[in-house]
Order: sequence, then C-alpha cells, then structure tokens
Amino acid sequence: MDMFVGGRWQGSPAEIDVVAPFSGEVIDRVPAASPEQVEEALATAVQGAALMRTMPGAARAEILRKAADLLDADSEKIARTMCLEVGKPITEARGEASRLGEMFRLASFEGTQLRGETLPLDAQAGAEGKLGFTLRIPTGVVVAITPFNYPGLLVVHKIAPALAAGNPVILKPASQAPLTALAITEKLIEAGLPASALQTITGGGRSVGLALVSDPRVRKVSFTGSTQVGEEITRVAGVKRLSLELGANCPMIVMPDADLEAAAAASAAGGYVNAGQVCISLQRVIAHQEIYEDYLDALREPVAAFRIADPLLDDTKMGAMVAEEEAVRVTEWIDEAVASGARVVMGGEREGARLSPTVVADVTPGMKLSDYEVFGPTLGVTKAEGIDHAIALANDSSYGLGAGIFTNDVGHAMRFAREVDAGNVHINWTPLWRADLMPYGGLKGSGIGKEGIRYAVEEMTELKTVVVHGLEG
Ligand code: NAD
Repeated sequence: MDMFVGGRWQGSPAEIDVVAPFSGEVIDRVPAASPEQVEEALATAVQGAALMRTMPGAARAEILRKAADLLDADSEKIARTMCLEVGKPITEARGEASRLGEMFRLASFEGTQLRGETLPLDAQAGAEGKLGFTLRIPTGVVVAITPFNYPGLLVVHKIAPALAAGNPVILKPASQAPLTALAITEKLIEAGLPASALQTITGGGRSVGLALVSDPRVRKVSFTGSTQVGEEITRVAGVKRLSLELGANCPMIVMPDADLEAAAAASAAGGYVNAGQVCISLQRVIAHQEIYEDYLDALREPVAAFRIADPLLDDTKMGAMVAEEEAVRVTEWIDEAVASGARVVMGGEREGARLSPTVVADVTPGMKLSDYEVFGPTLGVTKAEGIDHAIALANDSSYGLGAGIFTNDVGHAMRFAREVDAGNVHINWTPLWRADLMPYGGLKGSGIGKEGIRYAVEEMTELKTVVVHGLEG
C-alpha cells in the first residue's frame, strides 16, 4: 500500500514487508520513505499549518464527523486489517475499530471549544486601563509517532485532537502495523480534509522518525512507544512541545478482603488482552500473603480460557505476539526468574511468535519480570506482607503509568489512590482500562503529558496573550 505524502499516494524504491504475526505471511508492503520524501512531508505540512489555522471550527468539526461516519461504515474491514497486522483476536480488533468513529466525534466537539479568558491586568499597579485576554491558537505542525499494538486507537488519539484544534499532522505509524493508519488516512481525505493537513509517511523509526522529530518546523511531537525511544526523542527534539506516552510494568495489589474470583478473572484479562502487549497490561500482581496461594488457585480457570488460536476466529481470546524474537525475549526473562527462585505456575510454552498465557509466582524485585516492561502474556506474582509493603512494591518501579487494587476496605483503597505513583489508578479493577475522554498519561519513566481528547486538544494548542494599551482615557 502506498503512503500519503505531499497530497498524493506515493511509493518509494525501498519497501518494508508487513507480516501477519500469527501466520508469518507477508500481507502487504509499504514504502520506506526517502530523505527527500520526509522533506516533502515537512514542506507540505508547513503549507497545511497556514491553511488549517484559518479553517473555521465548524468546518473542521464537519470533516471530522464525516470521517467518523466513514470509519463506522468500514469498521469490520478495519478490524480485519488490525487483526492481521498485529495478530490480535478479531473480537478485540472489532472493539478497537468501533471506538474510532466516536473518538472523531468527540474531537469534533472539543475542537470547537478553544476558549480564552480575560485577564485582570488592573490588579498590577500601573497596569490600569489596559485590557488583557488570551486566545487559544493551534500549535502548528504536529508529528505523531505511534506503536504497533493499537494501530487504530493510538493513531486517532493523536490525529483527531490535532486536526480538531486546527493543526496539520505528519503521522508516522509503526512499521510492523502501518496498514490501519493508512486506511484511516484514506477516510479523512475522503471526508474532505485538505491534503496538506494530514500526511501518513511510512518508514523506519531511526530514519524517518528521527528526521521528523528533530526538524525545527515541527512545533509538537506526540509520541507513543517505548521509554528508550522516548528518551532518544528528548535528546534530539530541540525547542518544541513533547507528549510522550511510554512504557510501563503496571502493578495490581490483591488484599485479603478482595473478591478473589473477580480479581483473578480481571487479572487474566488485564494480563493477556492483546497477548499482554498493552502499555497498561497488568504485569506485576502483588498479592497479600494471607490469600497468596488462594489467588494463584483462582487464576487457573480464567487463565486457561486464554487459549491461543487463529486470531481471525470469533472465539479466539489470544493470538500471537508481534514477532518471534519478542516471544523468545519473554521466555528468556521467564527462565531468568526461575533461575533466581521463581516458579512457573501455568503456561510458558512457546512456538514461534506464540507464547501461551503464563503465570510466574514468587517473582521478586531484581528479576527482569519485575523490573522491566515485559510486553508479553505473562503475569508475575509477588507476595506482600501488608498494605505498606504492597504499596512500596507497587512503587518500586521506574515507571508509573497505571495501577490497580482489589480490596473492599475504603481506607486501603484511598491510601493506594493517593500513594501509588501512577497516572491512572483503578480500584477493584486492573490497570488495563481506559475511556477515550479521560486524561491518560504516565508519571516517572512512563512519560510526559496527557492524552484523552480534551486534554490532547489542550496540549496541541498554545495560549497567546493579547494586551490592548491606550484605553486609560
Ligand atoms: P517503539 O518505541 O519501538 O516504536 C514506536 C514508534 O517509534 C514506531 O513508529 C517506531 O518506528 C518509532 N521509532 C523508533 N525509533 C525511533 C526514533 N529513534 N525516533 C523516532 N521514532 C522512532 O515501540 P513499539 O515496540 O512499537 O511499541 C511498544 C512500546 O510502546 C511499549 O514500550 C509500550 O509500553 C509503549 N506504549 C505506550 C503507550 C502509552 O500510552 N503509554 C501505549 C501503547 C504502547
């Protein structure tokens, strides 16, 4: 499939294979953009910025609503594309595809709400008789870089608020899963978006991505991906706004008063949705010593339900990981934990990119399964002596994206909410939950800034202060 740059669909002499992780088959090829094509995208986006900042809010909103309808109408096809390129079950892909139109509708509204305020300048001595107010204006060229795991949702979380706020976007999707992004681009252009307002350029992160984020014509980089790449972006970006949605190793505490069956069922979903390749996947279960073995027993049935099968089948709950080398890495981390005293309670079998849902008990800090981001279908369970110990273990991480607790004790729940350093905390659920309207983003090594349509619109706009002088008379 061609990419959309400079107002036209175009290829490139170099191409990247898009491989379906479950079957291993090449399902398409996309261009590996050349430096000249990156330059064309940037020059076009500068023209797009001039055009978009003059487009009335009502016109922007209408285009986004039209795109939403087109996406809804093609939702099943888009779900199939996601399922194939990521290897995620079709039911999960349908859920993801069904949210895209609604997100554009939400953005169409939020983009019409760019408000300023009057400033009480006369409160400063000597500033009497002047009138001050603020204008909220588009930030300019936005570069959006997205990971492979939610190739629709995470793309729309960036491009919908950026366009709604009156900015042009250059989107660089993940090379493993670029087809959904290109399909969404088609719908926006069909909906009447000016061609300079959205360009979707495909190619490697180190070549295309790096060139885009370091260019001074870009005013804002909105990146979702690994902490390692996020850090690299901070080193080359220069003076521009950054939103970074990065990695995590999300914890969940299970207290003795919790509903263990509910906690175990939620744990399986939290750990194995999208084969554990979600930034807010449940990775570290911190179970109180009084219910530790009971919790492990309660996991058996819900974990066993996540059998691996062809992701295109309606009843499949788990497909493949994105690539064989990723599955190999996770099994190596499991082996490392076992060599250091942990035990595999369930799963751990690998065939190619398919790794069965795995539960590892007696995980302790210092093991990779605890300290690093696993990004695979593995729950590591750690024993806690009490709430203080559990909160300390939850916070023993360089990340801080999501966290959860299962308890019926309001006091423990509130302590957890206040003391655990994570951007999103869930009481009686796992970290894996998100509504597209809520503020969403990490603390510590998990990132900077917030997404969620209203909050992203704010981060993709600037406040300009206007002062009218000479009104003293
Ligand atoms: P990745 O960091 O390898 O790649 C993400 C994107 O960055 C891709 O488009 C890639 O081509 C590009 N890229 C790579 N190197 C680059 C560079 N030097 N400069 C600019 N761009 C570059 O991540 P991935 O493997 O696709 O996705 C998995 C990661 O994403 C995990 O760490 C996961 O936690 C994170 N993630 C975070 C969130 C969140 O909301 N916090 C959501 C989803 C995924």
